[in-house]
Amino acid sequence: MGKPNKLRRLEDLVRAIASYRALTSHEGWSRARLEKLQRRLLADLLAWVIQRSPFYRELSTTLRLHEPGVLQDFPIMDKETHMEHFDQIVTDPRLRLSRLHEHIAQLSGDDYYLGEYRVLTTAGTSGHKAVFVYNRKEWSMQQAASMRIAAMMGVFPFSIPRLKIVTIGSSSPLHDSHRLPLSMLIGPYHYHMLSATAPVAELVQRLDSLQPRLLRAFPSILGLLVTEQVQGRLHIGPRIVAGGGEPLTEELRQRIQTVWQSSVFDIYGTQEGLRSVECRFGEGMHLFEDLGIVEVVDEHNKPVADGTLGHKILFTNLFSFTLPIIRYEISDMVMLDPEPCRCGRPLRRIRSIDGRNDDVIYLKGRDGRQVAIHPAHFWDVLESFGGIRQYQVVHEPDGIRLRLVLEQGNVNIASGVRKRLVEKLDALGVYAPSIRVELVTTLEARSKYMGKWKNIVSNLDWPKQ
Ligand SMILES: [Zn+2]
Repeated sequence: MGKPNKLRRLEDLVRAIASYRALTSHEGWSRARLEKLQRRLLADLLAWVIQRSPFYRELSTTLRLHEPGVLQDFPIMDKETHMEHFDQIVTDPRLRLSRLHEHIAQLSGDDYYLGEYRVLTTAGTSGHKAVFVYNRKEWSMQQAASMRIAAMMGVFPFSIPRLKIVTIGSSSPLHDSHRLPLSMLIGPYHYHMLSATAPVAELVQRLDSLQPRLLRAFPSILGLLVTEQVQGRLHIGPRIVAGGGEPLTEELRQRIQTVWQSSVFDIYGTQEGLRSVECRFGEGMHLFEDLGIVEVVDEHNKPVADGTLGHKILFTNLFSFTLPIIRYEISDMVMLDPEPCRCGRPLRRIRSIDGRNDDVIYLKGRDGRQVAIHPAHFWDVLESFGGIRQYQVVHEPDGIRLRLVLEQGNVNIASGVRKRLVEKLDALGVYAPSIRVELVTTLEARSKYMGKWKNIVSNLDWPKQ
């Protein structure tokens, strides 16, 4: 209390710049030195959670976790368990999930909770909502990681003149694609933020007037924009283009390089704090291993060697002390490169990722053309309803079938959800949107999608543009 948020933001940013400098210095280190740092940070984290998290303190007695902690002795954590035990896992007893939900419901802009915390939820790509909370120091580290990502693409904080950056992301401050740039609007970069849920024509108009030098967006949006440029409606020439949040295909990379002559960078990150980005050699994404530990494992949670495709990731966030994220399951299938990169950084690289399956679906428009509906349009509406546990959007020949798993006692929201989605699609120019809501108790895994159920499913074979 007392201190104005503007001053807090400035302090957070100053701390972030110091952390960014430290991260940059690690890039010249040897692998051995980096691993030594990881061990030290891990020992601090594990000692802290055993002392301060009621959940881990109790576990430490039953599992006999000793100091210094051994990561592999800690249990693997899935999203459901993490949310179920949230109040016991957090290390500040003032943080209670029910209260955080109240904060989420009325959050506007870059507000702090209790003058100290930033609260985020998952972007919905997995359909199952999770809540994340960072204290100011932890948030500064998130900002520092963002600065490092930009620097690896050749954009440095406080550069003169400032390079104009446009990010097209979520429009909600609950998502890091929006919150991070929002919290850094006060200086180091020349940012403009556009919403991925805006109609394409509006994005085209804004981009034409902004003329970004760096353009960052979901690959599905980049695909739509390249098409707009080819068809003569968009006229931009970004020097750097970054894709993240969805797979960036080789085909799209080549189209962007051909049409805009830009350098293209693929970014992979998760709301749990995993960060990675390509260096200028573009041969895989460097993991920020000074901020987190990535265990690539098979379906039985046994580690796989670098160079082998894993079944999932177990991620440990080395700077999240408020809400510990330890051996947290991320169901993306990745393969790490066994060879060091030509750039000399000691950070290992992700060579391939499977299993990120967000899709754009195409619906018939009032003007006869196909209207591209980005998954973000669905997240936007569905995440505004607190009572939805999981969802799946199924594109059927006669319209959309929306499968919902609701929290107990929330059955009455189904018609409201349907109404809001119909309005949304109508506003986007879809011809007579038809949405059928199906209430289900669980979403079954689909082996076709590597064991995890998919958020957006098409039962049609629309030609992709
Ligand atoms: Zn490299």
